[in-house]
Amino acid sequence: MFESQYNEEMEAEVKRLEAQTRATNAGHPEWLNACALCGSELMEVENSLCNQCGDRRRK
Ligand SMILES: [Zn+2]
Repeated sequence: MFESQYNEEMEAEVKRLEAQTRATNAGHPEWLNACALCGSELMEVENSLCNQCGDRRRK
């Protein structure tokens, strides 16, 4: 129980750091997250692509 919660927190932290890295790479270190392809701002850290780039990849 404790371990799975710990892992979830670690994963959330990793996602946050990855999102921050994408934002920094896009030239906006103040953003939470940025699209890995086009560099537009993303409001949530869950995704690495914006809707446009995500749609393009799925189709
Ligand atoms: Zn994009």
